[in-house]
Amino acid sequence: MKITLNPHAKDAATRDALVAEGGFGKYYTDHMVVCEWSEKDGWSEPELKPYGPISLDPATAVFHYGQEIFEGLKAYRQPDGSVALFRPTANARRFAKSAARLALPEMSEAMFIESIETLVKQDAGWVPNKVGESLYLRPFMFATEVGLGVRPSNKATYMLIATPAGAYFDPSKAVSVWISTEYVRAALGGTGEAKCGGNYAASLVAQKAAFKEGCDQVVWIDAVERKWVEEMGGMNLYFVKGKGADATVITPKLTGTLLPGITRDSILSVARDLGYKTEEVMLSIDDWREGVQSGEISEIFACGTAAVVSPVGQAKSAMGTWVTGDGQPGAITMQIRNHLLGIQHGTIADTHSWVQKVC
Ligand SMILES: *Cc1c(COP(=O)(O)O)cnc(C)c1O
Repeated sequence: MKITLNPHAKDAATRDALVAEGGFGKYYTDHMVVCEWSEKDGWSEPELKPYGPISLDPATAVFHYGQEIFEGLKAYRQPDGSVALFRPTANARRFAKSAARLALPEMSEAMFIESIETLVKQDAGWVPNKVGESLYLRPFMFATEVGLGVRPSNKATYMLIATPAGAYFDPSKAVSVWISTEYVRAALGGTGEAKCGGNYAASLVAQKAAFKEGCDQVVWIDAVERKWVEEMGGMNLYFVKGKGADATVITPKLTGTLLPGITRDSILSVARDLGYKTEEVMLSIDDWREGVQSGEISEIFACGTAAVVSPVGQAKSAMGTWVTGDGQPGAITMQIRNHLLGIQHGTIADTHSWVQKVC
């Protein structure tokens, strides 16, 4: 890795003040990683360099045909002051799969992880200290061939940036959701399993519709039968059936249209470790409504790297409105959230070898 340090890196006091502001995506660290690919020469040597704008020809492919993918993962401060990543290899694998689906070049797991470790080591001072806070890492890749011909780009750029993420979890507030029967996020054979910007571009109008209905987020149902619950916005969903030690923690099955979340996967293990039964199921909107009305579904939450776990309260759709529990985060939701956060921050034993120390 070529290293070019930022001569204008923030001094420690300024940096600490920015990190202390919390929020998400407001400030970026002093450095970034860039690596270029061409069909002819493959990947160039990656470079760590000062964070800053990039210059691209207006005819660059990504602006016109949206050939772009990304990832999201976090670095967490550990009790001894060190910094660790959570399951970075899982992100590396998913990035390679997304690349294949979008006809972008695959990057080796080793190269992906080296880029992340190098940036985290360099900008470790930007990793916040409190539980629930972290340094969010955003690797992404886009098509850079210049020209308006529609074809897989013969050039691509990989970049990695990082932003401190505050603890924006408000336990007194459950998310309300609008179940969209108008728009579809993904269909079999499409790009639903890939983490690509285009999926998000196509989802924004539904997010707007959710806001108009007075809801925080949109819930997606399947494209064919228009009844199976898939995801919430950019997060996977979980439902708790029953209560206490006999509860079963269920999540929609990965049918090929859902994004296979790493948090989703981790929670399947965490729930089992905590003694709950788990199931990956097909769950319809009717199952949801009837389940909360009968009280069989006692808790609902969404999960993803950015927010980790968010309780879901009211659900609204063309078929009516219904509320889970008392609208407050459930006990099992909070237990799972705290356990996962504990593993990520090194205060609970990491029995699955998910946590990888960087520096
Ligand atoms: C990234 C993402 C998720 C969550 O994945 P994590 O690996 O848990 O962060 C869920 N759904 C969509 C659509 C996503 O893009």
